[in-house]
Amino acid sequence: MLPAQKTERGSYRSNVIHRGSSKVTNSLFLRIQNRFPADLSSILIETPTGQTYSYGDADACSAQIAGLLTSLGAKKGDRVAVQVDKSPEALFLYLGCIRAGLVYLPLNTAYQAGELSYFMENASPVIFVCQPHREAEVKAIADAQGVAQVLTLGMEADGSLMADAASRPTAFEPVDCADDDLAAILYTSGTTGKPKGAMMTQMNLWSNASTLEKLWGFTSEDTLLHALPIFHTHGLFIACHCVMLSGSKMFFLPKFDRDQVMSLLPRSTVMMGVPTFYVRLLSGDDFTADVTSNMRLFISGSAPLLPETFTAFKERTGKALLERYGMTEMGMATSNPLEGERIVHTVGPALPDVDVRVCDEDGTVLGTDEIGVLEARGPNVFAGYWKMPEKTAEEFRQDGFFITGDIAKIDAKGYVHIVGRSKDLVISGGFNIYPKEVETLIDKMDGVVESAVIGVGHPDFGEAVVAVIVAEQKDALSEDAVITDIKSQLANFKVPKRVFFVDELPRNAMGKVQKNVLREEYKALFAN
Ligand code: AMP
Repeated sequence: MLPAQKTERGSYRSNVIHRGSSKVTNSLFLRIQNRFPADLSSILIETPTGQTYSYGDADACSAQIAGLLTSLGAKKGDRVAVQVDKSPEALFLYLGCIRAGLVYLPLNTAYQAGELSYFMENASPVIFVCQPHREAEVKAIADAQGVAQVLTLGMEADGSLMADAASRPTAFEPVDCADDDLAAILYTSGTTGKPKGAMMTQMNLWSNASTLEKLWGFTSEDTLLHALPIFHTHGLFIACHCVMLSGSKMFFLPKFDRDQVMSLLPRSTVMMGVPTFYVRLLSGDDFTADVTSNMRLFISGSAPLLPETFTAFKERTGKALLERYGMTEMGMATSNPLEGERIVHTVGPALPDVDVRVCDEDGTVLGTDEIGVLEARGPNVFAGYWKMPEKTAEEFRQDGFFITGDIAKIDAKGYVHIVGRSKDLVISGGFNIYPKEVETLIDKMDGVVESAVIGVGHPDFGEAVVAVIVAEQKDALSEDAVITDIKSQLANFKVPKRVFFVDELPRNAMGKVQKNVLREEYKALFAN
């Protein structure tokens, strides 16, 4: 066996695979590892600065991390919470966790102290990996919540995680896992204001990954332009799994940067993005058929794609965006086809192993083109919400269908049309915001009687958060004061872009606030 080659960034450079023994058969990690290319020097990741990481590097580094985490006492089924910037090592940390049978719990870097405290209390992780500059803050919260270990990982592989992992062996026998063992918990905002931890099993992630890699025609010839965050299902599971299962390569951008994307498009073949990415690309005349000529596929999802964007994209590039639909709780559920008709304003038919139907509130299945709530069932659908059995029971039908909360219809061709959201979710720049969470904080402020938070159409973000407040006294509160207060407590994407003060909120006969009336009133707020 060859020793790993040392580099300045770590000790994990390796082109030797350390496969597990044959007795371990169905762990998610092993299934992914078995798809690594025979030539382990094949590139998995290239960064915008041209630094490359091979499949062998991913294998060796994930082994070292798995070894470190287990040496710190993490055992199969324990949670490892991760709030770090996107980097190759952050992906290897995910692989290290599933290699060791640990439950990976990614968190948006925008989350603030109060939110972190809730996640630590709710999920009781044994290890928390944070950005180096937030170590002291996170340690204080971890101490209060009884989280034993805090490690750090920076964008340049700086911090204690990689320093401590460097001395660990580059081999690690993958821990045996059953299909229904947990692989990850992803928090999704709750209508009650408290985020819910969606429990994803080994099979949930594997089934979705293997289906999509095939459906979207990934091969080792592909290069994915990866500009999504990796704390969300879209960028982490959908994008990275498609790449690793096909032995292809990805350009790993820390975030969406239009100039970087434009310069890498000619060397890429596939891009996955939220609609905002495509709106931003279309905003410059330099986004042309020429610059996209090497691209075989652009995929859009996580928020509704406006028909204007679909049409402008086709006119400009000659290519039809492929829109798909999914959510944290189930990964992907439907997709427009690779071959065949991609229909604007639809999210395509159900994936091969997924069943979808539209029902009324009582669960009666509705017919073609009838509008109701979309339900889905399949190996991709999550195992329930962590420590919330009642909430889980509420969202599943007796026959195993998950009630998505999205309002939809299914046409005669079997294509699903998403027509709205029953849960009042606001999606801004691809991130979900449940109004209740923001409203609860506003209502606690001195001088506030009540508030309503809505999403208003925004040319860049898709939707922007807007707060409408009834104050005890006119002019006692200012827009700036409210925004500053919320900013100190919540991730930036949840902070209202505008705040309005009104005498009273519009209500229906049942006393419910009519958010549709507010949305109508403020709909032109961000119009150009
Ligand atoms: P998340 O859990 O962050 O992935 O958000 C899931 C929600 O995003 C879904 O419940 C939908 O409301 C919305 N969503 C995802 N994809 C689409 C799409 N293609 N069109 C419309 N809404 C979408």
